Amino acid sequence: MTDEPTSLEEAIFYFANPDNCLNYLVSRRWPNGVVCPVCGSMALTFVPSRRVWQCKTRHPRYQFSVKVGTVFEESPIALDKWLIAIWMVANSKSPVSSYEVRRVLHITQKSAWFMLHRIRLALLAESQEERAAGDGGEAGEPDASKRQFRTGRQRIGVSMES
Ligand SMILES: [Zn+2]
Repeated sequence: MTDEPTSLEEAIFYFANPDNCLNYLVSRRWPNGVVCPVCGSMALTFVPSRRVWQCKTRHPRYQFSVKVGTVFEESPIALDKWLIAIWMVANSKSPVSSYEVRRVLHITQKSAWFMLHRIRLALLAESQEERAAGDGGEAGEPDASKRQFRTGRQRIGVSMES
């Protein structure tokens, strides 16, 4: 992951490429390999034209994208904008304001506020979990409502609940 953005300008350029968005998210959500969100199988086929995986096990919703089960799935805000905002929060030394997000992404103040709110909630949940889990690693029950992936120095979980 050495080609990941190191400046805001780079981040905007980087996330304009859907394959970069995909790779960035996959390496954080599924650092040990892509897993079917329905059955947990890792026997999958990737369909490059649609950027989805197909589970080889027969069950409903056997096709899924990297956005499945995350706030991105139902959001009208484009994935690249989410990722730029996440990148800003994860890599900024001072707190990122909704005004900055709005200015960089050319979105409404309301959208910018919503995105920051969700990203901060996710970061908060992560730090609480880490404190609770200690250095527990993989142990514990998987929480189906929350998916986690790494971003910059911090882990971000994106909850489906609103
Ligand atoms: Zn499956």
